Amino acid sequence: SNVLVCGGTGCTSSNSEYIIQVLKKEIQKAGLEKEVNVVRTGCFGLCALGPIMVIYPEGAFYSMVKPEDIPEIVSEHLLKGRIVTRLLYQETVDEDTIKSLNETDFYKKQHRIALRNCGVINPEIIDEYIAMDGYAALGKALTEMTPQEVIDTIKDSGLRGRGGGGFPTGVKWSLAAANQADQKYVCCNADEGDPGAFMDRSLLEGDPHAIIEAMAIAGYAIGANQGYIYIRAEYPIAVKRLQIAIDQAREYGLLGTDIFGTGFDFDLDIRLGAGAFVCGEETALMTSIEGKRGEPRPRPPFPAQKGLFGKPTILNNVETYANIPQIILKGSDWFKAMGTEKSKGTKVFALGGKIHNTGLVEVPMGTTLREIVEEIGGGIPGGKKFKAAQTGGPSGGCIPAEHFDVPIDYDNLIAIGSMMGSGGLIVMDEDTCMVDIAKFFLEFTVDESCGKCTPCRIGTKRLYEMLDKITRGEGTLEDLDKMEELCYHIKSNSLCGLGQTAPNPVLSTLKYFREEYEAHVVDKK
Ligand code: SF4
Repeated sequence: SNVLVCGGTGCTSSNSEYIIQVLKKEIQKAGLEKEVNVVRTGCFGLCALGPIMVIYPEGAFYSMVKPEDIPEIVSEHLLKGRIVTRLLYQETVDEDTIKSLNETDFYKKQHRIALRNCGVINPEIIDEYIAMDGYAALGKALTEMTPQEVIDTIKDSGLRGRGGGGFPTGVKWSLAAANQADQKYVCCNADEGDPGAFMDRSLLEGDPHAIIEAMAIAGYAIGANQGYIYIRAEYPIAVKRLQIAIDQAREYGLLGTDIFGTGFDFDLDIRLGAGAFVCGEETALMTSIEGKRGEPRPRPPFPAQKGLFGKPTILNNVETYANIPQIILKGSDWFKAMGTEKSKGTKVFALGGKIHNTGLVEVPMGTTLREIVEEIGGGIPGGKKFKAAQTGGPSGGCIPAEHFDVPIDYDNLIAIGSMMGSGGLIVMDEDTCMVDIAKFFLEFTVDESCGKCTPCRIGTKRLYEMLDKITRGEGTLEDLDKMEELCYHIKSNSLCGLGQTAPNPVLSTLKYFREEYEAHVVDKK
């Protein structure tokens, strides 16, 4: 048997490490060490049900496992082959048989490309990644494709940046490839700082080699031989697994010099972020890697011309990279067959807030919010009504119930006043005060503004004060108009994305829930 135990941050925080220890002891006591293989995996996605354990070949999905449940699992299931039904995720219980996970509401509409190995392999063992076609895409790119063919494939796939902006990845690569320089760089943005977002963390914890492989492919495509992964120091499990993966890839000759005997050299280093949200902005991130204070720089010049250390650089987010090896292996037609006209492939969302199945999901672009919330997410606890979902963190906006059936993709989200962002999706029920939500996100951006430019440094503070006045019941209808005007000034005059998007939560709640603001003011109509 193979016993998979989730070792992602969610399950680790609910004691899965201790469960692994107890499990190994019980297996030893039962004399089953040779027959049973314990695998610490990355995230399965159903974080609300952690700690999670799955036993194969039966595919029994045990949820909320406690240390005291382990002796029964070992003596009944592993020794006698009798599944412990009371511990099964009830969605998988089908009278006398158990359903496959893919038949459950949580998984059946999901399509896992970026997350394909999360919850499947042990991310600390490179052989497990290789057994899942790992590094085959790098081999294919280096031995069967020219750098231009790699770029053309990514361009043709329609892959767009998963970090928020949605810029076409292949176009970004071609711009950097076209610039001649003695040195170029490939960077990975793992500075995931949005409240409620944990997609990149889970990907790095569950499948770090996919990111390494993709960065090496990107290096080949643009002519770079050095990469940097900029990751938050607050993600210790991801950092540790990434370092193990880099060391193993070097040992296997998959990083370093003369990879696959082709003469191509590429190596990677990790740089830790110190918790500043602005360092997720591409130019601030590069300034931070250079060892300076992480402040944004004006663009142009764009990183493809003058990026890290003044050299042509590409920066992609973790999820964007996680798609690359599969696109190279399976081709652009396979990838672009999924999704909507202008948003191809899938998107990973971190589901949070007022929803049953808090966790990590990956769905084809074009899936509706209703499908994500009601079917995959299992609906809202306590039979409460859906009020809105916040996407894109502090840069995004609130999607109200009237847009529950809009297919989610980059362009549709912008059209309804939100944005894809990196994929945080926070669900709010009928009890949530939308003015409080706007205030929460604005407070976050006020704290995180780097202070370099006035519209953001001062503007967001003034905006917060106005919002605060309204929530104290001292605002007027005129204040609402002034607030809206200030939002547009901040958006159009700030230097970087942080300031340009900071008013979005205020604007989108004003647009859809103006009556809630009006209920707070003193001169109500
Ligand atoms: Fe700094 Fe805000 Fe200006 Fe960006 S917009 S440079 S975060 S002050």
